[in-house]
Amino acid sequence: MSIDLKSLIRTIPDYPKPGIRFRDISTLLTDAAGFTEAIERMVSGAPHDIDLVAGIEARGFLFAGGIAPKLSAGVLMLRKAGKLPGPAMGTDYALEYGADRLEMHEGAVPRGARVLLVDDLIATGGTAIAATKLIEQAGGVCAGASFLIDLPDLGGAARLRDSGLRVQSLIDFE
Ligand code: 5GP
Repeated sequence: MSIDLKSLIRTIPDYPKPGIRFRDISTLLTDAAGFTEAIERMVSGAPHDIDLVAGIEARGFLFAGGIAPKLSAGVLMLRKAGKLPGPAMGTDYALEYGADRLEMHEGAVPRGARVLLVDDLIATGGTAIAATKLIEQAGGVCAGASFLIDLPDLGGAARLRDSGLRVQSLIDFE
């Protein structure tokens, strides 16, 4: 029987700012059966001819690490600015208030490698779109994107699909 994954996600009101309802996945991560099923469902909905699974710091790392071995793929870390020890390349992107930057190690993506992008949640899509640009700038092919949670009212998944990407998510929150 399939597990109700949505019921394993806790909503924290007014975090990180008043008026925001933060969808906290830590309660799903500590549920062994729930986390296992989330990984299995993300794997089964993803393209399978993948060379690298790119996880967005930090919660995306957890899902990338679970999915990659099941696709016989490696893991690519997309990190926030200044965290990588070796020479890095990056892309800046706008947030609702302010700006952020994602980076990866130079040479981490072989030319033409097929990359699956993974994160815990997509909202406006700003982070994921920056990630796809970085993967492509590095010479990879973004072959799909997989999220545990979509906030469809914010339109990010639709924007990614409009760009021609295969996008899957397991859970919607309003
Ligand atoms: P976007 O760039 O699509 O607007 O925001 C998505 C990014 O913000 C993801 O990296 C995600 O981890 C983080 N994020 C934004 N809101 C939430 C939330 O309510 N819960 C969780 N777990 N992550 C969030």
